[in-house]
Amino acid sequence: MIPYGRQDISQADIDAVVDVLKSDFLTQGPAVPAFETAIMAATGAAHALAVNSATSALHIACMALDLGPGDILWTVPNTFVASANVGLYCGADVDFVDIDPATYCMCPTALAAKLDAAAATDKLPKVLIPVHFAGQSADMAAISALARAHGIKIIEDASHAIGASYKGAPVGNCAYSDICVFSFHPVKIITTAEGGVASTQDAELASKMNLARSHGVTREPDLMQNESEGGWYYEQVALGYNYRMTEMQAALGASQMTRLAEFVTRRNALATRYDSLLADMPVTRPQQNPDAYSAFHLYPVQVENRAAAFAHLCDNGIGVNVHYIPVHTQPFWQARGFKRGDFPNAEHYYDHAISIPLYAGLTDADQDRVVQVLADAAAL
Ligand SMILES: *Cc1c(COP(=O)(O)O)cnc(C)c1O
Repeated sequence: MIPYGRQDISQADIDAVVDVLKSDFLTQGPAVPAFETAIMAATGAAHALAVNSATSALHIACMALDLGPGDILWTVPNTFVASANVGLYCGADVDFVDIDPATYCMCPTALAAKLDAAAATDKLPKVLIPVHFAGQSADMAAISALARAHGIKIIEDASHAIGASYKGAPVGNCAYSDICVFSFHPVKIITTAEGGVASTQDAELASKMNLARSHGVTREPDLMQNESEGGWYYEQVALGYNYRMTEMQAALGASQMTRLAEFVTRRNALATRYDSLLADMPVTRPQQNPDAYSAFHLYPVQVENRAAAFAHLCDNGIGVNVHYIPVHTQPFWQARGFKRGDFPNAEHYYDHAISIPLYAGLTDADQDRVVQVLADAAAL
């Protein structure tokens, strides 16, 4: 079975984790700050906060932006459910903006229309979460211009996009957002098994996220309300969670970061190869915005008869997947008032979508095999 995605673990990665296991700290030691430093260096962000998942990173990002009851969060339907769920964690309402049919990311035209309607009814969102689908940045210049005109905060869900760039600068530098979030689940570009990071240029947002990831407790005198009572003293100054990343995860992440450019280069080479191998087949290939250099987490194609093609690929050892079932069509969200028909571009894309195998360790021979089976599948 050729899977649709998988991690690439080297002996150096294993050694880095074993070194931590033999050290004094399994949590709250030097590995997490070292990993955060590697993320800051790669993205150009002034702050990076490592946590136990991208879902946690999205949650503390919403908390830092003071999202709460009575507020509204907008994201896209073509995403993993976590991008929407975090709004509910904060007690806010959630709504969606349809995707661009070419890039499958948030559509600036749909956003502009929805903002006009929301402004007229006093229902503007406080937080907007565009998703860099498949590793390609959303059109952030257009999205941020529209959002900022209404004072709306932006969190980039870059779970797919570490190592990507937009207008020549790394995703994660927050040039068009307040906070950017990455995921390190094993199918993503680099992995920490489970894990995520929130990056920002804003020291105050970083400080709030730092409290939120660890119980709202601090040992920094500047953040305390009372005088220290001695060396043991700490204060809880906010409500937080235990969202901390372990030292083993951070050591794995830092080791993986040394190969980030290699992984993304290989993924791009495979994507270019798919582009040419599939050029004459009845499949729609993923289009690229000339402003974006994708990390190519996914290579989603569209076929006429998705159900038959999916079954044929699986039956022949190609472990394909589908990204994503539109969030608003999930039973949980239908019970909150959404229905099929609400976001037609996301639904049409989903009805035909298949993510075919793409990961750094995929060989050209594996890829040829995928293409061979897909040729038959797409004709069904
Ligand atoms: C993977 C993913 C998440 C959640 O990441 P975790 O690290 O598994 O919590 C959120 N959003 C998107 C778009 C994702 O792909």
